[in-house]
Amino acid sequence: MTRDARARGFAVPAVNILDDLSLRAVIAAAVRARSPLIVQVSVKTVRSVGTDLMTTTFQSAAERADVPVALHLDHCPDRAVISDVVRAGWSSVLFDASDRSLDDAERETAEVVAEAHARGVDVESEIENIVGVEDGVGSDVALHSYDVATLAAVAERTGVDLLAPQLGTAHGEYKARPVLRPDRVRELAALSDRPIVLHGGTGLSREDFRSFIEAGVAKINISTAVKVAYMRSAETHLAGARARDKWDPPSMFRDISDAVTSAIAECIDEFGSAGRA
Ligand SMILES: [Zn+2]
Repeated sequence: MTRDARARGFAVPAVNILDDLSLRAVIAAAVRARSPLIVQVSVKTVRSVGTDLMTTTFQSAAERADVPVALHLDHCPDRAVISDVVRAGWSSVLFDASDRSLDDAERETAEVVAEAHARGVDVESEIENIVGVEDGVGSDVALHSYDVATLAAVAERTGVDLLAPQLGTAHGEYKARPVLRPDRVRELAALSDRPIVLHGGTGLSREDFRSFIEAGVAKINISTAVKVAYMRSAETHLAGARARDKWDPPSMFRDISDAVTSAIAECIDEFGSAGRA
């Protein structure tokens, strides 16, 4: 999916979901726009829902979609969780080795690639840490940074499928304008033909996305936008319910679903993935 996106000059939206409601809402946005889609799940959500329930819920929702939809495990430093979803047949995993030294990161990434590829599962690699804490994983400061030649060489030796380098973005909502590094994407893309992933996409402009995609980004992660759309629509709904003293959960689910679908429809439009499925 992402190799095709890189060749054709767009990015696949990779959207973090929290439950079946947000799962069905993001798939609806992809189906409506004829966009390929990567559904992502944080380790925290996998742990709370359980791998089996998450897998069957995804399969049931995805098999009714007539666009390609993949299931991806987001930032995971925990090898046991990786093994669990690889066994369950997920499409891909992000092995987050950014808390390890370079030597350990390379050795363990190669082990994860061997285990995942044996089951036909792709591996996204992160050895530099992307700034910001997301669902309990990560750090607010840059702990490990390397030059792009090192990133490309490690990718070649470990055999990973996708690369998640530091690109100036951060997880969460931006308090100040970030210094974006599409130049770094371009340098890395010249050394490696592996699709490059942009994390921390929430809050960037259409022009920012365009410059990253033109440089070689083929997967853009969206998490905070889903959380904000979800909670703000619930907040608005609950204020109305209180005012009318009318408490009807299904109508709140509809409002949340509509808000999440619209937020993702906007991303699909910005990433150029509409009509590409
Ligand atoms: Zn991320």
